[in-house]
Amino acid sequence: MLLSNLFLPLTKDLPTDAKIKSHQLMLRTGMIKQSAAGIYSWLPLGFKIMKKIESIVREEQNKIGAQEMLMPTIQSADIWKESGRYNDYGEEMLRIKDRQGREMLYGPTNEELITEIFRSSIKSYKSLPQLLYHIQWKFRDEIRPRFGIMRCREFYMKDAYSFDIDDEKAKHSYNKMFYAYLKTFNRLELQAIPMAADTGPIGGDLSHEFIILAETGESNIFTDKNIFDIKLNSYNFSKDSLEKMRSDFSSFYSATDEKFNKDEFEKKIKKENQIKAKGIEVGHIFYFGEKYSKPLNCLVDHPEGKKVAVKMGSYGIGVSRLIGAIIEAKFIDDVMKWPRSVSPFDLVIIPSINKNNDENSKKALKIYQELKENKIDVLLDDVNENISAKFKKHDLLGIPYQIIIGSKSEDDKFEFKEVGKIATMLSLKEIKQKLKK
Ligand code: ATP
Ligand code: MG
Repeated sequence: MLLSNLFLPLTKDLPTDAKIKSHQLMLRTGMIKQSAAGIYSWLPLGFKIMKKIESIVREEQNKIGAQEMLMPTIQSADIWKESGRYNDYGEEMLRIKDRQGREMLYGPTNEELITEIFRSSIKSYKSLPQLLYHIQWKFRDEIRPRFGIMRCREFYMKDAYSFDIDDEKAKHSYNKMFYAYLKTFNRLELQAIPMAADTGPIGGDLSHEFIILAETGESNIFTDKNIFDIKLNSYNFSKDSLEKMRSDFSSFYSATDEKFNKDEFEKKIKKENQIKAKGIEVGHIFYFGEKYSKPLNCLVDHPEGKKVAVKMGSYGIGVSRLIGAIIEAKFIDDVMKWPRSVSPFDLVIIPSINKNNDENSKKALKIYQELKENKIDVLLDDVNENISAKFKKHDLLGIPYQIIIGSKSEDDKFEFKEVGKIATMLSLKEIKQKLKK
């Protein structure tokens, strides 16, 4: 892609409510544009990053055997009346009436709808377990939308639902998701801490929040440094191994303010290992058993003959919030570096453009074409502005690799730079080698 063709409305004037760096950066680089309070359009740069995050989330869900589907954004109020949440959910729910006066709503979550789908088709333990998910827009009429897409009203979420015949099997589904979440956040180069959480209005008895450390986070967290040393690849997919994984994480004291207990924190963690910090919640998982299946009468035949309410869990990841979380974690001293896995481009070519001599532009175009032929997603900065302005702009865009074409480049060697590291002179062949995934 040529930068001159990219729809990239860079802005300098920021609204006063853009208080945190992710919100500022997303507006400055034209990733999003606000359309109403807490509602945003996703412009090409932001949308491309979100789609990459979405595919990583999807791949890790598929790997544990979850099946993708798609439920609508608009739901009927009827099933919410059946579960009792139509009244309980309160003002966060956006309620709508259609032309016949039927009560509808824009889904804030999907426990009711998935239970309704499930109960109308699955009747026997023989069809269990089931693990279903979708990635869909949600609406919550947050009282104070803020921080851009981090706490907005319309947001993009992956939500999954598990169905099992008994508690033990349901816990295995829960553990599989727990594992998939950690893998997903690792691939985004984020260190997420799973923390035992209150179950809140979704209800139930087992729940974890996945939290990224960041100064601008809304949650206060208290944890043990050693929790970061647990190695995911030391576990396999067997029931026992996954159970051990969860209990290994749980063996370290970890809590958000809701569950924080000062005495316990100080007693359980050596002073030098105590972490008191702010964090951003990027995912939340729940096991709530029969909380919805019972009122919604979602029953299956048990091997012993009786009918039982199916045991359910639900599992959310804030796909759109993750973009903000990555920026909060990786935008340091005004320099952004996207994790390679979600970067909007693999590499940017930055030629120093001189009006009287188009040698650099020609050279840049040539390697641009060659890299493209090699399926490298490359951006060529063909905009006519001075090199220091270009560098400033690319500090914000955060593409992790740069080829700089200026006085230093030779016939077949180019200045190659990974953001945050020292530049080296490499041939195109060596550059291609470096970019191999
Ligand atoms: P929070 O405590 O931040 O309000 P929640 O507990 O209400 O989150 P869940 O219902 O568990 O959130 O939703 C799953 C995920 O969706 C959250 O972990 C978060 O990443 C994301 N999410 C929730 N609310 C919002 C929002 N208003 N804007 C953006 N993302 C959100
Ligand atoms: Mg909430």
